[in-house]
Amino acid sequence: DPRLKAISEAIRVIPHFPKQGIMFQDITTLLLDHKAFKDTIDIFVDRYKHMNISVVAGVEARGFIFGPPIALAIGAKFVPLRKPRKLPGQVISENYVLEYGTDCLEMHVGAVQPGERALVIDDLVATGGTLSAAIKLLERARAEVVECACVIGVPEIKDQILLGWLLSSLSRIAL
Ligand code: 5GP
Repeated sequence: DPRLKAISEAIRVIPHFPKQGIMFQDITTLLLDHKAFKDTIDIFVDRYKHMNISVVAGVEARGFIFGPPIALAIGAKFVPLRKPRKLPGQVISENYVLEYGTDCLEMHVGAVQPGERALVIDDLVATGGTLSAAIKLLERARAEVVECACVIGVPEIKDQILLGWLLSSLSRIAL
């Protein structure tokens, strides 16, 4: 896809953020480039518009940037998956392991109905731990997770449950 090169080039890499040794992929520069941002959304919309998806679940925080425009374009609802103690209603929670320590994602009870077909969106997949927690939340609500999609993929996806393929800068993970 000829659009991928420009998308990839619009993502800025900041060395040693937030700590020494990390090459941080900064998607805020992609958002400044109208064509690259629109192409990113369009690529996902083209893929998912005929997959009968009723829920787009976005992972806090950058899944909240890419998820809603995709949801609107494919005629699905948007469900935020948030860090602990942010959602005001009753929630279900899923803890997951990070390189150092643990984190947690929460989803509102009742946001998703059993049998709904869900797409999970985040900006970047590294170990797959965050996406795995998102999948578990949706499956606990008895939704079917059709696919997870990220803008940026890191080649070594360590998590066993993810069978991924990488397409230049855009990665999509089939379950
Ligand atoms: P994983 O759980 O797959 O190891 O890490 C993915 C999560 O970490 C995503 O929610 C993603 O937003 C965040 N993340 C880790 N490294 C980076 C990075 O370099 N750039 C951005 N934008 N997000 C990152």
